[in-house]
Amino acid sequence: MKFQIECNTDKINKICLICQQNFQTHEARLIVCNDQGEGYGDICYKCIANGGSWVQSQLQQFSHQLLALK
Ligand SMILES: [Zn+2]
Repeated sequence: MKFQIECNTDKINKICLICQQNFQTHEARLIVCNDQGEGYGDICYKCIANGGSWVQSQLQQFSHQLLALK
């Protein structure tokens, strides 16, 4: 599980991977992807504002859920 920051010119409506809220992307997107570079989804700016370690711990829970689904 890693982060990828992408520059973005369009405003796109996305659903945050962590809080499940709709948000509109700004000029930079934070995308969560696996080691193969496949994207899982975007993280909203409110969640990013909570800080890197908070986001990391939320994503850890998310990756446990993913593993449980397999
Ligand atoms: Zn969020």
